[in-house]
Amino acid sequence: MKNEISKTLFDRANKIFPGGVNSPVRAFKAVGGTPPFIERGDGAYMFDVDGNQYIDYVLSWGPLILGHADARVVKRIAQTAEKGTSFGAPSPLEIELGELVREFMPAIEMLRFVNSGTEATMSALRLARGYTGRNKVIKFEGNYHGHADDFLVKAGSGVATLSIPGSPGVPAESVTHTLSASYNDLPSVEMLFQEHGDDIAAIIVEPVAGNMGMILPDPGFLEGLRNLSDQYDSLLIFDEVMTGFRVHPGGVHSLYGIVPDLITLGKVIGGGLPVGAYGGKKEIMAKVAPSGPVYQAGTLSGNPLAMAAGIETLSAIQDPSIWEQFDVLGKHLTGGLKELAAKHGIDLQVNHLGSMFGYFFSSTPVTTWNEAAKADTDRFAVFHRSMLEQGTYLAPSQFEAGFLSTKHTEKDINQTLASAEVAFSKL
Ligand code: PMP
Repeated sequence: MKNEISKTLFDRANKIFPGGVNSPVRAFKAVGGTPPFIERGDGAYMFDVDGNQYIDYVLSWGPLILGHADARVVKRIAQTAEKGTSFGAPSPLEIELGELVREFMPAIEMLRFVNSGTEATMSALRLARGYTGRNKVIKFEGNYHGHADDFLVKAGSGVATLSIPGSPGVPAESVTHTLSASYNDLPSVEMLFQEHGDDIAAIIVEPVAGNMGMILPDPGFLEGLRNLSDQYDSLLIFDEVMTGFRVHPGGVHSLYGIVPDLITLGKVIGGGLPVGAYGGKKEIMAKVAPSGPVYQAGTLSGNPLAMAAGIETLSAIQDPSIWEQFDVLGKHLTGGLKELAAKHGIDLQVNHLGSMFGYFFSSTPVTTWNEAAKADTDRFAVFHRSMLEQGTYLAPSQFEAGFLSTKHTEKDINQTLASAEVAFSKL
């Protein structure tokens, strides 16, 4: 695999950006080597500056459910841009996307658009605190809710990948109200409620976790969270920034039949442009300024280009056959990986739901962060390198999920499995 141009660019990038990147996991620190610099994307593929082609299972970390440069999305963005790129005033596209989101997710009675998943979760937390008049929040070890101070406690994704428990720069006082529980462990949540119940504003959870690798909720776990939050008059926030429009058109909460009080969204709803949203029960959302006292604002919020990309993306995934195809491809990929690993005497745990998948180099099932953290990251690094060299672009960390797009085909999966067979033989 040629990578001379990427190497030169990475040298230049390192002189101007910390670690050479504008978001940590892109630097490939957990797997080593130079990250390929990407020149363009087309459907399920990315092409780097050295001319290498990859089947892409990262898809900009989730947003590109229609693949790269989908013709409908690109056209709509271009048409919209001709009329202006931002107004800082209400525009009809915001309503169109807002109503579309609500059609898919009736639990969202009202919503507010923001510019990233981080903004969505930090705003949802402020609202939960403002609404309940309480301070504390329960989050789960290994779940990631963006990089706001309150959530940088035992977080997943890049925080886990870089093995940092929190972050310097977050004052201890900022996280005194953040309580950590163990995912899939209801007694750990119950204990926190028993101790702090009258000051817990909300539980926030990735209802299917995707930032400690992909981990599914045990039966009864999400229902248990709903019951506990009801019992203690706290709010339940489902952070569906990653899972929304990914595991099921209606999100995890529709799939499991649970109505959270607030839901946070991002990624897919912007079709590859920067966007986020938080929404939920009308009575709670009405507390957001200017209809209520909880302040939250944004210069570029509801940006017309992001709205346009989101509208095209959500409109395209209404077709049920897309979700059948995700199921078939996801099973083929994860089932195939498990089978090939076993053939080479390698223990692999796999998960798949809708267009999301994950795998751990572990001999025992992984249902909590502690179990995920024990997975073999050295093996993962060798596997990742070999897959990359064979033209498969996987997330460069074991603590991330993988994604499919509507452009991935059986042929891509077969090619990926053939590469995996070579990679497993090297472990
Ligand atoms: N919540 C979840 C569940 C996420 O997966 C992410 C990003 N991976 C975020 C919040 C933060 O979103 P953003 O990176 O857009 O700020």
